[in-house]
Parts: sequence; structure tokens; C-alpha cells
Amino acid sequence: TEEADQLYASYAPHVTKGLGRSTEGVIKKASGSRVQFYDGREVLDFTCGIGVTNLGHCHPKVSAAAAKQCMNIVHGQCSIAFHAPYLQLIERLLPLMPHPSLDSFFFWNSGSEAVEASIKMARTVTGRQNVICMQGAYHGRTFGAMAVTKSKTIYSEGVAPLMPGVFSIPYPFWHQCGLPPATSPHTLVSQSLYQLDLLLAQQTAPKDTAAIIIEPVLGEGGYVPAPTEFLQGLRAICDKHGILLIIDEVQSGFGRTGRFFAIEESGVKPDILLIAKGLANGFPLSGVISRKEITDKLKPGSMGGTYAGNAVSCAAAVAVVDAFKEENILENVRARSTDLLVGLNTLRDDPAVSPFIIDVRGRGLMIAVEFTPSASGTSHDPFAQAHSPKSFASRVAKRCIEKGMLILTTSVYEVVRFIPPLNSTKEEIEEGCRIFAEAVKEVVK
Ligand code: PMP
Repeated sequence: TEEADQLYASYAPHVTKGLGRSTEGVIKKASGSRVQFYDGREVLDFTCGIGVTNLGHCHPKVSAAAAKQCMNIVHGQCSIAFHAPYLQLIERLLPLMPHPSLDSFFFWNSGSEAVEASIKMARTVTGRQNVICMQGAYHGRTFGAMAVTKSKTIYSEGVAPLMPGVFSIPYPFWHQCGLPPATSPHTLVSQSLYQLDLLLAQQTAPKDTAAIIIEPVLGEGGYVPAPTEFLQGLRAICDKHGILLIIDEVQSGFGRTGRFFAIEESGVKPDILLIAKGLANGFPLSGVISRKEITDKLKPGSMGGTYAGNAVSCAAAVAVVDAFKEENILENVRARSTDLLVGLNTLRDDPAVSPFIIDVRGRGLMIAVEFTPSASGTSHDPFAQAHSPKSFASRVAKRCIEKGMLILTTSVYEVVRFIPPLNSTKEEIEEGCRIFAEAVKEVVK
């Protein structure tokens, strides 16, 4: 502990201020749903490191597979020669694709890189420049990904010019559209699709538009599932105009929503599917998956990266996919989702708290609680909300951490998000709900 205190005192001040942090202290060890700090705290982790350690920290089979791979080959540079885990991972993923046409894989390290690769691919194969994204979207912090990120100004404030040729439409959710919470999903979808048609008529001609990129469940923008009708509408417009549909499942994929991919619920076919985070349960790995018919148009050497498709990460990902089957993970997600929603809805029904909660939503174990806006007293002033010095959601999250549970906020609105491990037990979910309820009640007081 003393050594950790020393390390923290001496070197934490040398970490860039650009990196935010939810809690102080140094992590000693993490296992399953728990994280231990050197100062003796042991906390329940309902962040999964932002949706990464979906099978819990240091899952024994994943760690063992990675350790074994470390003794064979760590860095098999993929532009030089394939290593076996790269191909084994394709073998595992092919049958899991949300559409059988998705048969061409490129692995990289991070979600942002996958986004970059997808934009580059879309531009190359269509010969078109522009990209349409969603207001509220998060796709990453590199330059192309930052340009299609519309969830918070902090990510790009002061760094323009970004990648040009980016347009956006509202994600069909009431606060993204500036409409009252009771607005019907059908109205919201009509409004967003109308904005898209308008965009294609007024600002970016179809023949200049390479792709539309969307998260099927908005992540950093507030944990908002897209209505099926909207995803189908986007697919129809893409088909009509020869635009590629990029589905970013970096956060929503790998079982998070109770299906292997969130897009499955809509039956919509992605032209390009992006995966990362849960894919390798903590080892850096992302994937850009498309159709051979599309990727055959790329010139060899146009894609790549020194660490792309790292052998240890791929071996870990193979173990992740195997664990999904062996441990009935998807079944567990659905059961625990019910437990979590029961816990959160019970809290919402508590008269002491109900005026402060306006929404409990999400899919599977990607669940959000939205509080009544504290800054402006209305949902129609996002600027005031985003700049509120004492956001209700961040006070709740802070209280949860003090009480023994790591939890994150999301979006410029008053939203706390639950990202527990997909193999959480019923008891862990109940413990999380109990801590959350106590925290909310204390903040409300
Ligand atoms: N897309 C989505 C939907 C994400 O949630 C994230 C990360 N939060 C990214 C892309 C970027 O991934 P990374 O942080 O690995 O670059």
C-alpha cells in the first residue's frame, strides 16, 4: 500500500490532464465482477472498463488462452504472414454474423481505428466522399472518428478542422429531437428519416454520399436503442441510393444487449459491421467486417497496421467466443437484464425518488437511468444541462463509487449507465441495485 501511495503521489501528477478519471487510487487486482484497490477498497465493477470486460475481469479461460499464446507467438505481423489465432477467430465469428453476407474480416486494435478503416473503405469502394452520422453518436477520438462523433463537444473542442464531408441527422429519441418524452417512437423515426431525405436533397447528394454510420444502441449518447423501424428505414434509403450502411457495434456487440449483436433485433443487414471492446475481453482488438464483394475492391496494402490483429488478442477473442457458448452467456444476460430492470423500476416507483427519474431504458445489460434535468428544469436546454456544475447523474455515480460500485454516466443529459459483466450473478445485480438506490436517495435528500 505504501509503495502504491508513493507511486501515486510521485507520478500521477505526471499523467496528462487530458485524461479524465472517475476515482482516485490505484487498482491492485481485478477478478470477475470485483476490482481491488491498494487502499483496501473492493468495489463492484458495473462499468466493465466501458463495456470491455464483459465476461468479468481476468476470465480464467481467456487469460489462460492469452498466456498460452504468449509462449508461441506474440506479434505475428499480419501483413507479413498470418498466425493461427487470426484465422481461428474468423472461423469462430463467421457463424455468428448478423447476416450471412458478412464474410470479409480485417482486425485492428481499437474501436476508433475500426471506424477509421470503415470510412476509408466506404470512400474507396463507392468513390464518394461524404459520410452521414447521428447526433449523439460516439465513434472515437481519432480524426475521422472524431468527425463523426456528435455526443459531446469536449472531444473535438479547439481541434478543428476535422475530416470534411460529415453531415448528421437526429437519432430518433425525444431529447435528441428536442421533443417531449412522451413522443411516440413512430413520430421520432419519421422526423429523423425526413431529416435524412432532406439532407440528401439539400446538402449531400446521394452520388457524393459514401456511408451512413450508426450505433444500433446509442452508447456515449445516452444508451438509446434505435427503433427497428428506423434501422429498416435507413437500410431502405441506403439501398435506394447505393450508400453503405456502417453498423458500429463496438459497445453494443458481443452479447451486451442479450443478442450477440444488437442489430439482429431489426433483421437489418449491415454493409460494414464494427466490433471491438468485448471481442477480446480486455485485450486490444477490433474488427471491420464486410462483404468480399466490397473488400475485393481494395488494393492490397491499403489496409493494415503494425499491431493489427495481434496474436495474443486474437487468441483471447477465440476463448471469449468459446466461453459464450460453454457458459450460456446470452441466456444469463436476458435473466440478469430482467433482474436489473425490476430493481431499477422498483426504485423509480418509490415516491421519494420517482419525480427525479424520467426514464429507465436499454436492452440486455446495456441499461440507463435518466434523471430529470437538474440544471434547467427542462429537457429542452441541453447546453445548460451539459454545463451544469453539479450534474445529478455525476453526483449519483460518485456516491455509488464511495459506496462500493463503479458506475459511469453518459451523454450531456442526466444519465447513469449500467454495464455490468454479462456473467453477473443475480446477487451481484441485486447488490448493484441496492447501492444505486441508496446513492440516489442520498442525492435526492
Ligand atoms: N464506437 C463506439 C460505439 C464506442 O462506444 C467506442 C468507445 N466508447 C468507440 C467506437 C471507440 O472505441 P475505442 O475507444 O476503442 O477507440
